[in-house]
Amino acid sequence: MNSYIQTHQFLIQKNIKPSVQRTAVMEFLLNNRIHATVDEIYVALSPDMPTLSKTTVYNTLDLLVKKGAVQMLSIDEKNARYDADTSNHGHFFCQSCGKVSDIFNLNPALFEIPYHPNFKIKTVEISYTGICKECKEN
Ligand SMILES: [Zn+2]
Ligand SMILES: [Zn+2]
Repeated sequence: MNSYIQTHQFLIQKNIKPSVQRTAVMEFLLNNRIHATVDEIYVALSPDMPTLSKTTVYNTLDLLVKKGAVQMLSIDEKNARYDADTSNHGHFFCQSCGKVSDIFNLNPALFEIPYHPNFKIKTVEISYTGICKECKEN
């Protein structure tokens, strides 16, 4: 588990001014590897932070993504998902339960940014969809 102090230090390393709200959002993402949505983060943090708004959560995430502390995933068409793990890994979206799982050990070549004369490609997202093991067994 990442403590508040560790998260505070992490934000400073990433050149992010560690406000209480930013630290709380980052700490939640570091300790809950569920690829959370804005709503999930808001619902989890708001009991302890009554002044927190959904807009603040959204703006905080936007900043964390811009600074490279968090990655945003578009795997779930209904909600942006946020991941504190910015290393190269793929994701699996279960069409039955909506859970987003990590897929590690993919071929590193999949994450190389290809050259294309017409586009300046900046990001690569490896997404798979289907039915997860738990849903398949039920
Ligand atoms: Zn499932
Ligand atoms: Zn992930």
